[in-house]
Amino acid sequence: MIETMTVTKETPVESTPATDPQQTVSLVEGGERQPKPPYGHLSVVCGPMFAGKTTETLKRILWAKNGRGQSIRVYKPAFDQRYARLQIVSHEGLAADAEAVVDWDNRSADMIEDSIDVVFFDEVQFFESPNFRGDILQIVEDLLGAGIDVVCSGLDMDWQGKPFPIIAHMAAKADEVHKLRGVCTVCGRPSTKTYKKTGSGGQIEIGGAELYESRCTIHWAVPDLELTPDLFYGR
Ligand SMILES: [Zn+2]
Repeated sequence: MIETMTVTKETPVESTPATDPQQTVSLVEGGERQPKPPYGHLSVVCGPMFAGKTTETLKRILWAKNGRGQSIRVYKPAFDQRYARLQIVSHEGLAADAEAVVDWDNRSADMIEDSIDVVFFDEVQFFESPNFRGDILQIVEDLLGAGIDVVCSGLDMDWQGKPFPIIAHMAAKADEVHKLRGVCTVCGRPSTKTYKKTGSGGQIEIGGAELYESRCTIHWAVPDLELTPDLFYGR
């Protein structure tokens, strides 16, 4: 005799949870892509140099691509005025392919056509003239309006403590802001500023640890100040 499973009236019926219209992922389930949400989710990852912005961005890229099976695009500014295939690489050895762009052309329309889920902009503060010919703020708005999630990462301030307008604008409009802090090279406290060792030059001068340090606000403003316990614990 073949046993059949019977469902009694007492068996609770599982109700389907209501779909959240702000759900930010288009998961691939059973081979079928779910409908895109009406508006994309904007995340901003910001902070000073040496705060782990690249690592955080790469983590999000890997989660989206490998974890959630999402279609993604990654863009970096092109300082050499040419198109190039690049990689974003963290100190831990994580890496992701990225495209360096000068002109945006039809990329937004192509991404909508290709059902891209998430777009990442690395070093987004540099997506402006003369490195980039386009309105990055409008581009991001257009992508969000098409239901594409956007993750922007970059420096929130220059070495003089002036906010970069692009990331300040995006942080204000973002659904989520992840402000990272580094470690002050003088006192070891959490740092939010980028200190330029030469103390001179323009707003943008590409360099690494030979030129910049991450510092707390006190040691950024007064480089050689010796911290007393009062100053240390009072701030
Ligand atoms: Zn310090």
